[in-house]
Amino acid sequence: MKYYSTNKKADKATLQQAVVKGLAADKGLFMPEVIKHLPDSFFENMKDMSLQEIAYVVADAFFGEDVDAESLKKIVYDTLSFDIPLTHVNDNIYSLELYHGPTLAFKDVGARFMSRLLGYFIAKEGQKEVNVLVATSGDTGSAVANGFLGVEGIRVFVLYPKGKVSPIQECQFTTLGKNITALEVDGVFDDCQALVKSAFMDADLNAHMKLTSANSINVARFLPQAFYYFYAVAQLHKMGKKDNIVICVPSGNFGNITAGLFGKRMGLPVSRFIAANNRNDIFFKYLQTGKYEPKPSVQTIANAMDVGDPSNFARIYDLYGESHAEISKEISGCTYTDEQIAETLADCYKKTGYLLDPHGAVGYRALTEMLKPNEVGVFLETAHPAKFKDTVEKIIKDEVKIPAKLQEFMKGKKQSVAMTKNFDDFKKFLLSK
Ligand SMILES: *Cc1c(COP(=O)(O)O)cnc(C)c1O
Repeated sequence: MKYYSTNKKADKATLQQAVVKGLAADKGLFMPEVIKHLPDSFFENMKDMSLQEIAYVVADAFFGEDVDAESLKKIVYDTLSFDIPLTHVNDNIYSLELYHGPTLAFKDVGARFMSRLLGYFIAKEGQKEVNVLVATSGDTGSAVANGFLGVEGIRVFVLYPKGKVSPIQECQFTTLGKNITALEVDGVFDDCQALVKSAFMDADLNAHMKLTSANSINVARFLPQAFYYFYAVAQLHKMGKKDNIVICVPSGNFGNITAGLFGKRMGLPVSRFIAANNRNDIFFKYLQTGKYEPKPSVQTIANAMDVGDPSNFARIYDLYGESHAEISKEISGCTYTDEQIAETLADCYKKTGYLLDPHGAVGYRALTEMLKPNEVGVFLETAHPAKFKDTVEKIIKDEVKIPAKLQEFMKGKKQSVAMTKNFDDFKKFLLSK
């Protein structure tokens, strides 16, 4: 399969090139040339298949031409070694819990898949070691570090701003050891990102070592997110619910929802999608006005969705032939303030006993307001509420238990390398590796 750039100015890439490069040379996002429609028999049988079996069928449609069947199956089964339950919340609303992976957030799926696919290409080519550089304000670093932990031929350097990530987040990438190195940068997130960008452009460093990113726009992180949309629908089919399925996705950079839209293009019977936003309402505004106007992000309690210029908008725009009318037919939007998010979280907990995290709360609220009586709604619960313990406890005025998996991280010994925000220091460090 070839991958083209949404900017249409760069040469088409192979899967391997697209995965190693991340972004196309013209700064566009890679798109698969063909999105295969899956056979009717698959949609009929889906309800009797496991998560891994379903995911493999979807993975084969994307990657089957480029990865041999046995390896691809192993990558899929290794990636999805945890469950993704669909839990009933109330009325016609279900929560797809994407937080049972190692770092308790949905980004685990993409990060684990990408690490294994990259590992596969490195082993196949007998390539020299690859170094993944990732700047994080918290959650991406933990998903990437844990996803790549122990993968042969890959080293990961996580750069994070000193004192600016929560202790729970910090322990998820500083206690791992092995092929993961955490760099505690004396600066803010933007400094971390600037260091990574400079490294990618530095001739000496690129001559010395093979550098790559594990950005969320990478096709190997983005496409696997389609897997669980199929599994969610399969679980509804099993309950006899087949018609008028609506999926609501709390969205920031819009990678997650775009993977769902790809699923629909492959034939997945979903009638429509809702992109739920916090106060960062660029997409919501686009739906209303037809104008895409990025602006600086504002801070909210659903902070993984604080994005002022969602990169994957380019993919949605391309997928629907740049037509506002076509986009609006399949996706609707909404935007909520912190007060509304908190109110929803508290209310849902009180009335149903179901504990949402601030991101899931945005999705749940959208369904309570926008679902029609004949529809059945699924919202993606993108993170475990314990990841936002302080915020959630303040809202529900109750204690949030930390799952054993998170406690394990917190018991580990913090190992990190102190780093200045000066590029020369970072460069010297990498050259010594
Ligand atoms: C990353 C993230 C999101 C946003 O997902 P996008 O793919 O960027 O739209 C939502 N919730 C949580 C918890 C996240 O970590």
